[in-house]
Amino acid sequence: MPKLDDVPPDQVKYPGWNDTKVPEDAECQDTRGMVGGRYIRCANPAKVIVALDDDHPYYMCRPCAQFNVANRGGKYLLGGGASRGG
Ligand SMILES: [Zn+2]
Repeated sequence: MPKLDDVPPDQVKYPGWNDTKVPEDAECQDTRGMVGGRYIRCANPAKVIVALDDDHPYYMCRPCAQFNVANRGGKYLLGGGASRGG
């Protein structure tokens, strides 16, 4: 369920452009809004890495990734398609 980031936006750990795996404890970083200077995140277990029109990629769960790729010009950096399972 959505939750607030523990840290301010400038301290959030995003994946790198060349990351080759999603940490087991990574949470979906798709944004639901902002409260008190903190992002509200989807926070489901992250399965993929998606690049938006932004300066860093995001860890995302599959539903958020599919939405962002379909509607926001997102591109899979890791985990796109059905071949990798998980
Ligand atoms: Zn999500």
